[in-house]
Amino acid sequence: MGSFYITTPIYYPNAPPHIGHAYTTVFADTIARYHRLIGDEVFFMTGTDEHGLKLQRAAEKMGISPEELVDKMAEKYKWYWSLLDISYDHFIRTTHDYHERVVKYAMNKLYQDGLIYKASYAGWYCVSCEKFYSPGEYIEVDGKPYCPIHRKPLEWLEEETYYFKLSEFEDFMKDVLRNRRIVYPESYAQEILGKIEKDGLHDVSIARPKERVWWGIEVPFDPDYTVYVWFDALLNYLSGIGYLEDMDKFHKYWPEVHHVIGKDILWFHTAVWFSILKALDVPLPKKLLVHAFLINRGLKIGKSAGNVIAIEDLIDRYQDSSGVRYILMRLFNMAKDIEVTTELFDSIYNSELADTYGNLVRRVGVLVKKKLEGTAEGEEIDEELEKPLRETLRIYREAMDEYDVSKALTAIMDLLRRANAYINEKRPWEKQDPSKELYTLLETIKYSTIMLYPAIPRAAQKTADALGYKITNPYQEPPSTQKKYEVKQALILFKKIKV
Ligand SMILES: [Zn+2]
Repeated sequence: MGSFYITTPIYYPNAPPHIGHAYTTVFADTIARYHRLIGDEVFFMTGTDEHGLKLQRAAEKMGISPEELVDKMAEKYKWYWSLLDISYDHFIRTTHDYHERVVKYAMNKLYQDGLIYKASYAGWYCVSCEKFYSPGEYIEVDGKPYCPIHRKPLEWLEEETYYFKLSEFEDFMKDVLRNRRIVYPESYAQEILGKIEKDGLHDVSIARPKERVWWGIEVPFDPDYTVYVWFDALLNYLSGIGYLEDMDKFHKYWPEVHHVIGKDILWFHTAVWFSILKALDVPLPKKLLVHAFLINRGLKIGKSAGNVIAIEDLIDRYQDSSGVRYILMRLFNMAKDIEVTTELFDSIYNSELADTYGNLVRRVGVLVKKKLEGTAEGEEIDEELEKPLRETLRIYREAMDEYDVSKALTAIMDLLRRANAYINEKRPWEKQDPSKELYTLLETIKYSTIMLYPAIPRAAQKTADALGYKITNPYQEPPSTQKKYEVKQALILFKKIKV
């Protein structure tokens, strides 16, 4: 038992969240719920990144103030996260004053330590990324530089700015990426290391002139500037856990921090973030968990690519959060992009949730009601399922501890398929007293449901309530054994989708 701190990136609320945000957030939630299940004290944080030019412009276009826009959007994000049963402990907004204080403190400290200096900058800039692109990074369309992510023309920008001396951290970063296993999977560390070895680490601009970007946190030592939105945003991981203001809380959780990010923001979360932490004398995160993308027609899903899949459409199609969460976690892949299609989603939902888990829960419920008047008692479970059950609990834990949610879910489905085969074989409906078989099946369902709980909390809770057991730590010693089940209801958990 220990503390566990997990974060999602804070999202840029210029549009509502879509399936890509859900992919990251449901994963973080699943890991958070798993750690609560096994007895850890968990702090799970998500939120919104509320400053910067893009929001300033969006608000101008809508004829409202940026404050009004971000207030509205933060509520929208919370609403979507409630649809998906995201169990965050804190929703951070970078417009909160405690966050602003941490950003100003960090700017001042770095400035006083000689790590921030003023100089001019010129380059090609993507407004949507809020990022300068150097030759080789941007793509060209009709000879003009375009953003490789947004596929929109870049703007030429020249201005006086403040730089953070990232170059001073080159050796430090190489050492971290080579020798410390923070970035996971490891291949992403190699990718960044390769980039640093090839190009070196260059100083980065961390301020914007207020006349262009006024919607931001003021640079404490120069009121003509606002803090660059990336520098501002990264510090949420510290401010959200009480840095400077509640150091007990900070010291309790920070050593266990796990950042979940998509691979597109890998650079900022390694080269830039690790260097900022070093500059602030704050230990590096325990883990940076990086995942690949869901793609559609070969492109990362996003507003700019025009291939957004709406969360509400998914919820409509797959009933509630459980169907959607299961599909996303079943496909979750840290290393490889996954092409999504309705056919793929439907087939996972139908074959695994409806035909395997849902079907077993329904059949066993009906049989216990019919043959045992709703009460199944037993001492021990049939060894035919006992061994596979114990093995699944082992694989599950190992997989979850390696953040391999998909492998964990696959193992549970294998067990549930065996349980369905066990019913077909034993034919409890023909037996005078099928107590042993049905008790065995209820125990198997109970443990499977508990293991499924982090990914599909809503359906798991429904099943537990209907079949009469509690969602508790499956690994506690001695194991809590249940001798008697009072089945309340033969549930139909998942309605099959007609394809
Ligand atoms: Zn861009």
